Amino acid sequence: MKNLSELRDIMINDHLIARGISDPAVIAAMREVPREEFIPGKLVDFAYEDSPLPIEEGQTISQPYMVALMAESLELSTADPVLEIGTGSGYSAAVLSRIAARVYTVEHFASLAQSAAERFKLLGYDNIRVLVGDGTLGWREYAPYKAIVVTAGAPEVPKPLMEQLAVGGRLVIPVGPHLHMQTLIRVRRVAADEYHSEELCDVQFVPLIGAAGWRERD
Ligand code: SAH
Repeated sequence: MKNLSELRDIMINDHLIARGISDPAVIAAMREVPREEFIPGKLVDFAYEDSPLPIEEGQTISQPYMVALMAESLELSTADPVLEIGTGSGYSAAVLSRIAARVYTVEHFASLAQSAAERFKLLGYDNIRVLVGDGTLGWREYAPYKAIVVTAGAPEVPKPLMEQLAVGGRLVIPVGPHLHMQTLIRVRRVAADEYHSEELCDVQFVPLIGAAGWRERD
């Protein structure tokens, strides 16, 4: 029977490096963060399977490959502050916090935000701030951000997030006309009034619910 840290190493080799993740900072962060701390206890045997898993409030913790791919696509440098929309379990914020200077993360459900904040405290990840609110509006207080990542699917890119992206910054977000199927896109703000967008891959995320996202009843 392999222990969790051996399983984590296998996950990193077989699901991340073998599938093209190459940024050393991302790989080191994925090696450092214990995913088992972010999932319901009864699912611990699945902690290092490369699949999303259910968490509270009917939400999901993303699959490790997707967390790594999104982190790599943000092209982070260590001094960058990152804004994440969709804290969920806190796992992806934890991974980002091992790469970037500061992480600001916004979650719609207070209960999820609270459990995530407790996990960050337990693990000593003290460069993450959590806000309960509608992340489609961003987090104005600390804007602009060099990197913004959205971990829920939006019908279109929320305007407030475009506005809160620094010039030269990257926004990675699943977008599409269906509630549970999207294309992951990366938007670069190349000048104050100019954005370039590129498609990265097809993805499946839970819906982004909010003023500039899906409506609660969609
Ligand atoms: N990054 C998470 C993935 C969570 S799933 C992890 O690693 O576990 C997406 C999360 O987005 C859910 O927790 C959901 O509640 C949240 N969400 C949906 N709409 C939101 C909104 N408008 N603002 C903030 N969070 C939102």
